[in-house]
Amino acid sequence: MSASGRYTGLIGRYADRLPIDNDAPAVSLGEGNTPLIRLDHLVADLPGEVALYVKYEGLNPTGSFKDRGMTTAVTQAVHEGSRAIICASTGNTSASAAAYAARAGIKAFVLIPDGKIAMGKLAQAIMHGAEVLQIRGNFDDGMRIVKAMAEQAPVSLVNSVNPYRLQGQKTAAFEICESLGRAPDYHCLPVGNAGNITAYWMGYSEMALAPGAAGTAACGFCNGDCVYHQNAVAHRPVMLGYQASGSAPFLRGGPVEQPETIATAIRIGAPQSWEYALTASRESGGWFDEFDDEAILEAQWLLASREGIFCEPASAVSVAGALRDIRAGHIEPGSTVVCTLTGHGLKDPDVAKRHAEAAVSTVDATDGAVREAILGKMA
Ligand SMILES: *Cc1c(COP(=O)(O)O)cnc(C)c1O
Repeated sequence: MSASGRYTGLIGRYADRLPIDNDAPAVSLGEGNTPLIRLDHLVADLPGEVALYVKYEGLNPTGSFKDRGMTTAVTQAVHEGSRAIICASTGNTSASAAAYAARAGIKAFVLIPDGKIAMGKLAQAIMHGAEVLQIRGNFDDGMRIVKAMAEQAPVSLVNSVNPYRLQGQKTAAFEICESLGRAPDYHCLPVGNAGNITAYWMGYSEMALAPGAAGTAACGFCNGDCVYHQNAVAHRPVMLGYQASGSAPFLRGGPVEQPETIATAIRIGAPQSWEYALTASRESGGWFDEFDDEAILEAQWLLASREGIFCEPASAVSVAGALRDIRAGHIEPGSTVVCTLTGHGLKDPDVAKRHAEAAVSTVDATDGAVREAILGKMA
């Protein structure tokens, strides 16, 4: 918050909880502060009176949660004198990196997999003036190369192996606790590179004033009178990670060579935060599960058509998981459950367009034809 009370983004809001120097000017687009929306229709037929919420991260400035980590990573990179950043990306990281680099007046290099990037995300990277390098390989190949480039070229790496990324992303857990007045009982996430599940666990651990999964300390900022102590929560949620079946290393117990899924944001075979994610799952008493592409698209359609919330396919796997685990009784009756909807549906218009043929009827441009169509649809 600025002195006037105007919301100025994550670094302004959570300065004392982020390891960013006070004199580092924040590179911000007003990210964070996204809505937590209770779903009514999708749980209506389910047993157990579960309160199901979604954290709609598609409403961040570039349309995904990546902005939370990019404001901190780019702020720190610029503060350290960096003139260029680099990342490998399935799409959203490159869109976010490109926007924050433009904001900071520095260069962004983004490596994207050959042909497997959603149109909206590529358009963003181009519009924000990034240098886009399409590699003849997948995300995991790109990740290996950008790590090498951070050593061999004057560029700062802003993938989630950069610790400032996860620091920024943990703030979503703070917002959820503040909004609910408590921690949820379960938190459901899509898992790709596994940075976000790690970041949420860190955030919840800090809110519970417990040692965090990634080695964060207890509060340590005050004598018990800071805003975090006042808002401290009594417990941490059970962390549930969901993957696409064609790209599910956590279900297979190790890397997947040729990951495939329509949910391109989680088309990752060798997650960089493997150990941290396993720790979060184990410490929280959580589990991993998987869904095929058809089930993922079904959940995306349900959210959009029955709740009015349009997310991208990867995001919907969290809701697919929550619904299945509520129905199966794996999620305790009476629980409060939060799913992160990681990215906006407009990112990937090609997937949504598959529904178009059934949804659009062409009629004559006359009152009569349109009236007839309305009455036909209402019948
Ligand atoms: C990056 C991303 C994910 C995966 O997050 P990880 O931190 O890599 O596990 C999921 N959904 C969307 C939309 C993303 O952009």
